[in-house]
Amino acid sequence: MKKFTFMNKYVWLIILGLASASLAKAQFTVCGTDHYWDQQVAKNPQLEQERIKADAGARAAIYSAAYKTMPTTSELLIPIVFHVISNRNYPVQTTLQDCKDQIQRLNEDYSERNSDTVNVRPLFQGRIGNAHIRFILATKDPNGNPTTGMTRDTSILTYNAGDTVKSVVDWDHNFYLNVWVVYNIDSRSLPKGSTIAGYSVFPWDGVARGKADGIVMDHTWIGYGTDRTLTHEIGHFLGLYHTFQGGCTGGDEIEDTPPVTAASLGKCGTWPQDSSSNTCHNDVPDLPDMLENIMDYSSCKVMFTKQQVQRMRYYLTLNRVSLYYYNTVAGIETPTENSSAALSLFPNPTNESFTLDAAGLAIGKSVHIQCFDMMGRMQFEELVPVGNDGIISKQMNVASLKSGVYKVVLYQDNEMKAVKALIKQ
Ligand SMILES: [Zn+2]
Repeated sequence: MKKFTFMNKYVWLIILGLASASLAKAQFTVCGTDHYWDQQVAKNPQLEQERIKADAGARAAIYSAAYKTMPTTSELLIPIVFHVISNRNYPVQTTLQDCKDQIQRLNEDYSERNSDTVNVRPLFQGRIGNAHIRFILATKDPNGNPTTGMTRDTSILTYNAGDTVKSVVDWDHNFYLNVWVVYNIDSRSLPKGSTIAGYSVFPWDGVARGKADGIVMDHTWIGYGTDRTLTHEIGHFLGLYHTFQGGCTGGDEIEDTPPVTAASLGKCGTWPQDSSSNTCHNDVPDLPDMLENIMDYSSCKVMFTKQQVQRMRYYLTLNRVSLYYYNTVAGIETPTENSSAALSLFPNPTNESFTLDAAGLAIGKSVHIQCFDMMGRMQFEELVPVGNDGIISKQMNVASLKSGVYKVVLYQDNEMKAVKALIKQ
């Protein structure tokens, strides 16, 4: 151990003083998702019960036999649309190239191809998870017309933006991940000096709230080298909490991220260099804080864990089942979307069979019922005629299917009319 001399101490104190002064003046850029969630709960306390229920479901599923046998290496595709909102006095100059660069960043991070995972400390290397999720810029708009995956609109709502900016433009959240790119995000209710880089809607909230679903991003943080803000926000969009959620005792519902008291701002890479930070000692074995985790605030966040990946894929395949496509051997499955029909599967989960009820189908045409496994392989298909009431009711036998999660899709005239996840026990 190096001898701690007076001189060393003196220099150290000066450095500490300088750093404190600069930190005090610094602008802290934070994620606004928790803040946004708290505001939603203040307006509607029932939401907190929804969250608790969703977490219980996620826990039960992730540790269930059906979910454990589900392949997690199938690549799932999510179409994104960037809505760039600008104003004469608050210009947002995000380009299509910025959006493409951002997609590249996401695709590296969500497929464990980001080269900086080599920087993950050896004790956490075995915990790195590959989400096998690929993001694509939308190629068709909601009317079926070609699109670049980026829209441009003019509105003053881009300044101090909040949910109202979503009224400017909004594509069906069932089929697109909407990202609103704004001049800045309303941070006035945060402590002075804090600015929000982005915020997301959680899956248990977004499904119910429909039009508000998606992510709002300060334009400064769109592009390749922008500190993985959108990677982090999509983590929330797919159900992840911050690793520091609830401090040492609260927990983020994830077992392979060590507990951490608070956001690891300013650690690793910038002063103070402190890769040995260990703020909680109630974990066994007592591991240091996982500064490398994308759901923290550190400057060296580069990885998701295996359980975080499981949780994201759970919420994607159950709560956001119509949002993803399979990347199959035959190519990318991208039918025309038209979620006009109502679909219910009961019971679900099921052991032997279920009843499929659908309404709102086009009258006088047959409907294709297709069931895919998590690799995008069709398990069965049935063609059922639709009567004059636009309704079908069909008993489906699934005794021969393996345990796992399946996607049941109804097509009419090659239009996807409805989609639901089915759990086979
Ligand atoms: Zn966050």
